[in-house]
Amino acid sequence: MKIVYMDNNATTMVADEVREAMRPYFSELYGNPSSMHTFGGQVHRKIEDARAKVAALINAEPEEIIFTSCGTESDNTALMSGLLSNPGKKQIITTRVEHPAVLNFSKTMARRGYRVTFVPVDKMGRLDLDELKGSITDDTAIVSVMYANNENGVIFPIKEIAEIVRSKGIMFHTDAVQAAAKLDLNVKELPVDMLSISGHKMHAPKGVAALYVRKGTRFSPYIIGGHQERGRRSGTENVASVIGFGKASELAREHLSSDNGRLRGLRDRLEKGLLETCPDARVNGDISSRLPNTANISFEYVEGEAILLRINEYNICASSGSACTSGSLEPSHVLRAMGVPFTAIHGSIRFSLSRYNTDEDVDIVLEKMPGIINELRELSPYGRENGR
Ligand code: PLP
Repeated sequence: MKIVYMDNNATTMVADEVREAMRPYFSELYGNPSSMHTFGGQVHRKIEDARAKVAALINAEPEEIIFTSCGTESDNTALMSGLLSNPGKKQIITTRVEHPAVLNFSKTMARRGYRVTFVPVDKMGRLDLDELKGSITDDTAIVSVMYANNENGVIFPIKEIAEIVRSKGIMFHTDAVQAAAKLDLNVKELPVDMLSISGHKMHAPKGVAALYVRKGTRFSPYIIGGHQERGRRSGTENVASVIGFGKASELAREHLSSDNGRLRGLRDRLEKGLLETCPDARVNGDISSRLPNTANISFEYVEGEAILLRINEYNICASSGSACTSGSLEPSHVLRAMGVPFTAIHGSIRFSLSRYNTDEDVDIVLEKMPGIINELRELSPYGRENGR
């Protein structure tokens, strides 16, 4: 049966062109890019080509790109560097809706003696900029605010935020893992010091990512060893994946504007169709500032996990707003921060599209969902209480 994959904010399919670009590095081109011989040297040159392509995606200079193993490593590296480069300063400012790569890193640092300010969002998922501004002190080492949210797709005004933060001489990092390849990012016009992106969210393989560090930014490496990445991130390079990341960045640049219009069309049709056919459905997040590929919809009085299991029978892949961790249903911290009611958080589903989704995919979801939601509501204790 056809797979209807609408979980692209979790991870994406590796593009055929990316797989082809990587293939030689699993076989004949296995040299170590750090080796003196020509055999290794040719791999080194290809890594530098890939670096230039990743840099071009965000209009950075190649030497401003550090390859890492994942978006989480990029985020951790940026924050740790912010703390180590500002010794004596003990405050981290971030938001309540960050990915765990930033959120849990900050919580861990709080247990190690740092003070963390988590800036709130309103019910549309928009950041309170006055609160952010007001929380900056002489003790602030780094501010980290995500570009776009992975759960609801809400885009924060990063240029404005970066200007506020840097006008006070404080380091600013943005987690752009969900924004890269979906929005036109240009670090020449975006006054950020550091920016994270990750390959597997943009049709490159898992296990490769990058941290952009603006020229002149004080930087402390997180992984220390040999001289790779000019001593800023040691460890023999994940060569094939880096090459794939370069190819994926090139493709993203080529497809960006055409993909976005098409994806927005598909997403809007999906969203409108679901809202029309499923009673008590609502969209979570500010629809006026949102990634074109993401729809987060709450089907009230139904369990998201139950919806996922039922749509899974038709090979439809999406995510729910509650994660089944350690045997308990942990409601989404993002939707909680937005003040979404309990019954709506538990029934929330994220559909996230990519350039490989088709009209037929949307038709399949629109055909299957209303029946599933009605059926589950009949069974739901919340539904019965509410006379459904
Ligand atoms: N930041 C955001 C916004 C994400 O969505 C993710 C992954 O879901 C990450 C960071 C972590 O990226 P990675 O899976 O490459 O570690």
